[in-house]
This record gives sequence, C-alpha cells and structure tokens, in this order.
Amino acid sequence: MIKLNNNTSHRKNKIIDYVIIGNSAAGTSAAENIRKLDKKGSIIILTSEGYLNYSKPLITYYIAGKVSLERINFKKEEFYKCNNIYLELDSRVKHIDTIKKIVITVSGRKIHFNKLLIANGGKPIIPEIKIRKSSPRKVNNTGRLERNFNDNFISLENLNNIKGIYKLTTLEDAIKIKKYIEEKKIKSVSILGGGLIGLKSAEAFLEVGLKVNIIELSNRIMSATFDKEASDIIENTIESKGSNVFTNDTIEVIYINKKKIISYKLRSGKKVESSLLIIAVGVKPDTSIINDDSIQLSNGITVDNFMRTTQEDVFAAGDVINSYDMVLNKERNIAIWPLAVRQGAVAGINMAGGNKKYCGGFFMNSIEILGIPSISMGMANAENDMQKNVKILKDYNNERNFYKKIIVKEDKIIGVIMIGNIERAGIYAGLIKNKIDVSNIIEDINGEDFGIIQLPLKYRKHMVVGEGIEV
Ligand SMILES: Cc1cc2nc3c(=O)[nH]c(=O)nc-3n(C[C@H](O)[C@H](O)[C@H](O)COP(=O)(O)OP(=O)(O)OC[C@H]3O[C@@H](n4cnc5c(N)ncnc54)[C@H](O)[C@@H]3O)c2cc1C
Repeated sequence: MIKLNNNTSHRKNKIIDYVIIGNSAAGTSAAENIRKLDKKGSIIILTSEGYLNYSKPLITYYIAGKVSLERINFKKEEFYKCNNIYLELDSRVKHIDTIKKIVITVSGRKIHFNKLLIANGGKPIIPEIKIRKSSPRKVNNTGRLERNFNDNFISLENLNNIKGIYKLTTLEDAIKIKKYIEEKKIKSVSILGGGLIGLKSAEAFLEVGLKVNIIELSNRIMSATFDKEASDIIENTIESKGSNVFTNDTIEVIYINKKKIISYKLRSGKKVESSLLIIAVGVKPDTSIINDDSIQLSNGITVDNFMRTTQEDVFAAGDVINSYDMVLNKERNIAIWPLAVRQGAVAGINMAGGNKKYCGGFFMNSIEILGIPSISMGMANAENDMQKNVKILKDYNNERNFYKKIIVKEDKIIGVIMIGNIERAGIYAGLIKNKIDVSNIIEDINGEDFGIIQLPLKYRKHMVVGEGIEV
C-alpha cells in the first residue's frame, strides 16, 4: 500500500470526517470541493489501483502513443499534499457497514467514517464465452489418437490467466496491451463490442497501423448513440482500410493453446485466427461493495439531486450511480467523464455542509476513426422512439464522409450527430443543456455556417460576456 500523504493525523482520530472510495473523476472532484468548504476535516481517498490517478478517456491514446504515462495524470501529487488529502493506493474496499459507519478493505482494515462517498465507477461486462483448450492428442479406448478439449468460460477472474485476451477499462489494461502488441509484434486485433469503448479502442489500434476486426451483436456499430447513416460512414471507413466489421454476430468459442488465444469462432460459423482479443462489450455500475439494502439500487446506486443515497451520510457519484438525464427526463446510468466530475463536485459540496443541486446531464461522446471526427449527444437516435413532435434535420454527403443530424422536439434540440466536421459542437451542446427555444432559427441550425451569430440575442448575451464584447 502506498500512502501518499505524510500527514498521519487521521490515525489518531477514530472517525475520519470524509472517506472517499474511488480516486478518479468523481472521487477527486469531491475531495477538491470538500476542501474548499472545510479546510481542516480529515479526508481519505481509497483506490484499488496502484496509480496516482489518470484520465480514463486517455488510456486508448496511451496505446496509440499520443499520450505518455507522465502526462496521463489529471492531478499532480501536489494536489493531495496541498489539500491535505490522504490517498491510499492499492486499497480495495470489500464492503460497507452502514450501521456502524465502517468501510472494510479487502485486507481487513476498518475505517470509520463520518461522511462517505461511493465513487468506485463501473465494472466491465464479460459475456459468457466458451474457452476451448486443446490438450495433446492421446490414444483413446478404441486405439485411435484423439485430442481432448477442456471447456470453460471466460470471466473477469480468469482473464489474467489467458495471454492475448484483455479488457480495456483501466490504465493497467492499457499498459499490458501496449506491451503485448510491441513484444509480440501484433499486426491485427479483434474487438468484441462496437460501442464507445470498442470504438475508442479501434481508434487507437488503427492509429498504430493494426488491422481490426470488430464484432458487434447488433446490426450496426455504436447503435446506442448513432443512427444508421452515421454507423454506415464509420463502418465503411474502417472496412475501406482492410479491417472488418462483423455485425449481427458474436464470439461463440475462443480457442486456447498453451494458455494463449489462437483463434475464435463466430456465431455465424466463421473461424478467425487471432492472437489479441479485446473484450469491450460495456461497463455497468459496480455495486458489489454494497451488501445491505439501506443503500437503494436501481441498476446503479439511487441518489437524489444532492448526490445523497438512501442511507444518511452516504453519498455516491460518477459511473456507479443512476442520475437525471435531462433529455430523456428520467434517471439512468450515463457513464461519461464530465458528468462524473460534476456529480463529484455536487457530492463534495453537500458532504461538507453546502447546498448544491445537481441539475442533470446528457450523454455525449466523441471519437475520431481514421481521421474522421464524430460526435453524438443527447438523444441522437430518437426518431423511432418518439415520433410525436419530433423534427429531424439532416445534411448528408457520403462522398465527403460528412453527416449532420439535429433532432428537435417541441422547439428544443434534444440530440445531435456530427460526422466529418465537429466544429461548433459546443454550441449545440449549450443549446441542449440550456433548453433554448430554436423555433425562430430552425432554418439556420443545420447550416454548415451556423454559429453564435444566429443564436437568439438573449442567449448570445448569456454565452459571451465581458467588457468590449458586443454580440
Ligand atoms: C476506454 C475508455 C474510454 C473512455 N472515453 C471516454 C471519453 O472519451 N469521454 C468521456 O466522457 N468518457 C469516457 N469514458 C468514460 C469515463 O472514463 C468514465 O465515465 C469516468 O472515468 C467515470 O469516473 P468515476 O470517477 O465515476 O469512475 P472511474 O473512473 O471508473 O474510477 C473508479 C475509481 O474507483 C476505484 N475503485 C473501484 N473499485 C474500488 C474498490 N472496491 N475499492 C476502492 N477503490 C475502488 C478505482 O481504482 C478508481 O480509482 C471512457 C471509459 C473508458 C473505459
């Protein structure tokens, strides 16, 4: 266990004022905001990982060689020292006793808390796939040579024992994958899952010149956030450079030899040789440390607008919670970095006695595949779900790999997809977030030259403030 802060005053106290589980977007943001209001209270951050901290959206850029390990931290060591925050690395929480207000680590340590934040994020989903290990051929009872197969299933636990199969959700995963590619001189990689993490991985592998095979269960990649036109542009781009996208398909059996992946068979029957497979079918809130029903779960942890769980003095934020989706107008899990930071800040302020409300957020993601940037936000694929009062504006140029789609419901933008040119995405995000009535500018909002100047005057004033600025 690495202890970053030399200040051991908390050991003399029986009760720690603020215990935070998780040292990433939500956890560090909470600690920073607690310290703004409470200069003296003891703060401990516990993390199961051995790294100071790192920007999770950058781990694929580390594989691509665009970001070094030195530059992947989003908080320097001074952050913990200057704010008197005691960080415990390699300190995994096993469970929480909400009655006695104790956090119990895997090593058996008990930490008493006054206020607790659960910000331990998500956990990768590992689908049930058969592993077929071949063993040497032996003579059977009829005198013939026969190969025995020893079937098992992949799991989070046994993934480490098979060379060439990885998940990609932590910096440690990224370091292992990069090393494996370099050492084994890997030329092609298979990715199970064509969602955000799968495509982020593909972005990195294509960047370093590997061929990719993406295997996606649904009928197109990024099906949760893209529509058909958008998915087609990205799929065609990937395939035009000699890579493959297998849709409506999944891996049925993985073949292993000497504890190493050698190939796999798709449900459609195709057998693909492979020495590197990334499992990227998604993440779900990691609620495994909660084992009593005082903290209500509904997929993720249920919180109110102040990031309070249903248990007094216990707060939660980030990928582990369900929070308000302001576009869908319902609670759900939206696992993206900026929302985790914002929720962590709200939790921290309220833990320290402040009164800050979380107003909700919406999904947004951005990827660049082989030089084609893309962004989707809000309900970008909404027309099937909500036909009523929905207006769809589209601009599509297949040859230029350009696509823009704006979905307007009851005069407010609720979703945007941009492919090929993502300039001004921030303006659309602002219009969604601030629920601006666009009825007077509806003719302009899909134009390539749409910009601040076309926005309603009142909103423009709100966006741009400062002496000498006239808009
Ligand atoms: C490959 C990849 C690419 C991504 N790209 C983007 C992107 O481009 N844009 C975007 O907005 N979002 C992206 N995301 C999502 C984004 O990274 C998450 O939404 C964000 O990291 C959530 O922050 P968090 O603090 O809730 O949890 P996490 O970042 O998951 O951190 C959880 C923390 O809890 C700790 N922890 C977990 N379990 C325990 C335990 N039992 N005991 C103690 N500590 C524990 C971990 O060590 C870690 O410190 C990406 C995610 C991945 C995996």
